[in-house]
Amino acid sequence: MDHHCHGVLYRDADEATLESMLNEGSGWPGGSVFDSQAGFAFRRLCPPVLGLPPHAELADYVLRRAELGANEVSKRFLVATGMSALCVDTGFTPEPLTSPAELGGLAGATAHEIVRLERVAEDVVVAGTGADGFADAVRSALATRTASAVGVKSIAAYRTGLDLNPERPTDPEVTAAVGRWLAAQGSGPPRIAHETLQRFLIWCGVDLGLPVQFHVGYGDSDVDLHRCNPLLLTPLLRAIQPAGTLVMLLHNYPYHREAGYLAQVFPHVYVDAGLATHNLGSRAPSLLAEALELAPYGKFLYSSDAFGLPELYYLGALLFRTALSGFLTAGLQEDLFTERTVVRLTRMLCADNAKRAYGLGEQM
Ligand SMILES: [Zn+2]
Repeated sequence: MDHHCHGVLYRDADEATLESMLNEGSGWPGGSVFDSQAGFAFRRLCPPVLGLPPHAELADYVLRRAELGANEVSKRFLVATGMSALCVDTGFTPEPLTSPAELGGLAGATAHEIVRLERVAEDVVVAGTGADGFADAVRSALATRTASAVGVKSIAAYRTGLDLNPERPTDPEVTAAVGRWLAAQGSGPPRIAHETLQRFLIWCGVDLGLPVQFHVGYGDSDVDLHRCNPLLLTPLLRAIQPAGTLVMLLHNYPYHREAGYLAQVFPHVYVDAGLATHNLGSRAPSLLAEALELAPYGKFLYSSDAFGLPELYYLGALLFRTALSGFLTAGLQEDLFTERTVVRLTRMLCADNAKRAYGLGEQM
């Protein structure tokens, strides 16, 4: 089960698209993002799914991709992930992407929606709500938007960083903050980035009782990475704990050890290593081993954080399976646990932890 991913592109991906979407960075004159761990993992593992030999030249790969067409390419990679369930963040759509149902259809998996908190708040403002009605309008929109969703997501990391005051803001504080935000907002589409409002949205999510996903650590050049250390969330995690709402710390790299610590000491905190798994390529086994140093095995989830390119869902799944397999095999050889335990841990880490956290049970 992939508990955090996005939709795939409808359109064909040419070489420029692959270069721009392989990782969180962007190209530069005279270089290729494929000269990287993610790039060599891609070139080794992806061509065989399209009937080409491993390490095929990128130009040949792009030709083969165009020959098969976007839909067939997506289907091949998504089916090859072997996922039975996907949780899809629908809040980031810089260009048209498949809906959760469409993505699930391509993968032959059940798809569930994760609602992005900031997007709901920004939509409320686009619909014409001013500062006065904002808090009520957001609560009501969230109730509607999450009626069939399994979780919500905060991108406070991208907007203000994670050093958030743990207190729940009052409605008058929210109204005043919206007034200041809208006054400072230029003519473009609204972009919420205000500490009080990020907190307000997180507490709205906590009140819904659905797991709250947080972007943590590694992301594109929009994040100030030093403000995305999960330890900055400690006061807020402590404040949320009595509510019983689960907190899912996504990605975490390079703070995956810090995240593992938080999962150990806070019963409501879960972690993953999404996005980093395929970006670290051949180093993914080290990442997984470090993430599992302190994180309880019952609170570590799988996610790809794949976006746009179907290859990324496949790379995430394959590199995670390979890393987990190596980790468990080594443990078996060192007599750290029994073969029966290996089977149990595999089920937990690949699906059962996520099923339990999101309350999916038999619905998968
Ligand atoms: Zn994501």
